[in-house]
Amino acid sequence: MSNYPSHFSNAQLLEILAQTKTATAIHSTDEMIIETANDAMISIWGKDRDVIGKPIEDALPELKGQPFLGMLQSVLHTGETISGSDTMAELIVDGIKQQFYFDFEYRAIKNNAGDVICVLHTATDVTERYLSRQRELELESELQATNEELASTNEELAAANEELGASNEELASTIEELTVTNEELAESKDILQSLNYSLTESEARFRSVVTQAPVGICIVSAHDHVIQEVNNAYLELTGKQMGEVENRTIWQAIPEAAAAYAPIMNDVIDTGIPFYANEAELKVMRHGVTEQAFVNFVYEPLRFADGTISAVMIIAIDVTEQVLTRQRIEQSENRLKSMVMTAPIGMTVLKSRDLMIEMANQPMYEIWGRSPQQALGKKLLKVFPELHDQPFPKMLQQVFDSGNRVAVPEIPVKINTPLGELNYIVDFAYDPLFDLNGNVEAILATVINITEQISARNELQKAKDILKQAIDSAEIGTWSVNIATDELVLSDQARKIHGLAADSNFTLRQSLKMVLPQHIEKVQNAIQHAIDTKQSFDVEYIITPFDNSKQKWLKATGKAYYDDDNNAESIAGTMIDITESKAYDQQRDDFISIASHELKTPITSLKAALQLLDRMKDNPPPNILSKLIDQSNRSMDKISTLIEDLLNLSRMNEGQLKLEKTTFTVADMLNECCNHVRVTGKHELVLQGDKKLQIYADEHRIDQVVVNMVNNAVKYAPNSKQIFFNIAKKGNWAKISVRDTGPGIAPEKLSHLFERYYRTDASGYQNSGLGLGLFISAEIIRKHGGEIGVDSEFGKGSTFWFTLPLL
Ligand code: ADP
Repeated sequence: MSNYPSHFSNAQLLEILAQTKTATAIHSTDEMIIETANDAMISIWGKDRDVIGKPIEDALPELKGQPFLGMLQSVLHTGETISGSDTMAELIVDGIKQQFYFDFEYRAIKNNAGDVICVLHTATDVTERYLSRQRELELESELQATNEELASTNEELAAANEELGASNEELASTIEELTVTNEELAESKDILQSLNYSLTESEARFRSVVTQAPVGICIVSAHDHVIQEVNNAYLELTGKQMGEVENRTIWQAIPEAAAAYAPIMNDVIDTGIPFYANEAELKVMRHGVTEQAFVNFVYEPLRFADGTISAVMIIAIDVTEQVLTRQRIEQSENRLKSMVMTAPIGMTVLKSRDLMIEMANQPMYEIWGRSPQQALGKKLLKVFPELHDQPFPKMLQQVFDSGNRVAVPEIPVKINTPLGELNYIVDFAYDPLFDLNGNVEAILATVINITEQISARNELQKAKDILKQAIDSAEIGTWSVNIATDELVLSDQARKIHGLAADSNFTLRQSLKMVLPQHIEKVQNAIQHAIDTKQSFDVEYIITPFDNSKQKWLKATGKAYYDDDNNAESIAGTMIDITESKAYDQQRDDFISIASHELKTPITSLKAALQLLDRMKDNPPPNILSKLIDQSNRSMDKISTLIEDLLNLSRMNEGQLKLEKTTFTVADMLNECCNHVRVTGKHELVLQGDKKLQIYADEHRIDQVVVNMVNNAVKYAPNSKQIFFNIAKKGNWAKISVRDTGPGIAPEKLSHLFERYYRTDASGYQNSGLGLGLFISAEIIRKHGGEIGVDSEFGKGSTFWFTLPLL
């Protein structure tokens, strides 16, 4: 058996009740008089033991207006137990009205008869548990909201990045970086989400999320703007130290942003509408240096459970690098664009391997013969399909492949325009333009239309060639002297004239040594005069060539050239060998004196004969009369012959020698000519060869040629008894010759006989002529298409011959 009593007195029971930890009280009657209450209950009530025996609303007057008295009365009347959990009651504890939460039970205690005699009131103070639960719920919803905002921020950033990417491919790297940022954001979201599960119960862990977040986060209290939470990323971004921001309002911490953003934050707090800033420009002090920064950020309102705004969460990402990169790209693009658009030569940017015409300037459109509307934004080969057959597309692809510049000078290009085909010669270059990854993304093509220059150059070259031909065919030499060095540069012809080797160096001083001493001063003066007066000079002088060949007459012209300071730098000009024309001039002078002399002799003799005839006219002695008439006739014949020669010469000079051709027998013509020789009886004219040969020629002129040859034989071979005519047919040619057996002609003279005014030393012959007979004969034969020549052996006679074509 146990020592414990099986029944306790009321007093004992109450004593036990008093000792339980569970707050307990017993109430009776409608006023719910506190029959008893243990310490735990009295402590909950915040009262002392005086309350025992008092109606409940006297003991705890603060309960008035609260539902508890009613509930207690209901239990007393109905016998139904009422219980509740987390039920709020307002109690005055320590003189202060406070809210508490209880799990409680009002239980009806009945007697044996089943009547309710009192209400047993038990209660557990769960205020702490309730509040901490409440806080957890609040935190949970805050986090939920934060995550949602982060997610939407993230989405918006992604959308912004995509837009950026779509609008500008060059920003590929920026996009990549933004993508990385997005990934970081996504990662941070993941971190936040994964942390979220375990964080819902702990504010401390929420802080840790904020701290660890890779984006700047700062939470600012809505009512006083004091910073509640801030992470390192945010401090880094704003260039602040923890000490500068702790327990301060956001605008005390970051005064530089207050003017611009305080009104915005007030707006967010007032309206609850979040604010998004894209690439906001900030001046940030970092490590003592003011830096320009660009930031994407959100002011996100955080709300209490009741919807009122408790705080503003700032989430910020530093996008400075991306913005600056993009600005740099934009800048360099703008520079490129303004360079292209203002260049005075054709420039175009061809994008990607499609060769899309992205940009082109006016000179380029002019070369293309297209308007911007016809070309811009289109593929090069679509606009100019004719380029397919030209080397350009291949070279462009080559630049894309190699990343190296291709430049080609003077290349022909053909372009079809609505107005017809255009053909140009161009200098062009293709320069690769690289993207940030070093790949060729476009080509800058530079095109210079040099068609006109090339044709001008060709014209110039042509003119030079013609000039050179003229100089060469006129055998003109060119020369130039560098005045400072005295170096003399001579053309090949000038060297030939001076008898100089092709590659020898030469000076003006050396060349003057070749000049005939009496001409040196004339040459030097001419040069000096040209330098002094800037006029060209023209001087004729004699040189003994360097190789000691025969002396030559030279005619040199020249002009001085000056530098910017008006000092003569060089003299240049031409020179020509005028020896022959000097000799010709001499011959002409000689001819005139000979002609006068030749005419004077027969005229003097005619005059003498006429004077004699005049004196004896009244009584002329018969033998003298006929002699004088003979003399006069011979003189007249001589004068006629000389005048005939002179007339023939002038006709020939004027190109007026006209042929009147007929067909005649050569032998007849030879038999009839030269009777004047036959009658003297001094010479026998012997006809040999083909006596039947007929020719078609100007008989009078051919007769003149033969007479001249016979007369020469008479004059220069007076002792030749016989003069032979020979007629021969050689193929399609007739060859007629006149041979004498006289002294013959020295071989060195043979080649000159047919030249104008040429006479061998005629001093030995009384009847020498004007040196024109053979020259005129040669012209007559040449005009007939035949040849003339002489075969002679010194001491054995000469054979003069000519040929004529036989139909
Ligand atoms: P010219 O009026 O002096 O006779 P030509 O032209 O007829 O002129 O002749 C040129 C020169 O050729 C003559 O001066 C003479 O010296 C030379 N010559 C011409 N025929 C003969 C000949 N049969 N024998 C020798 N010399 C001749």
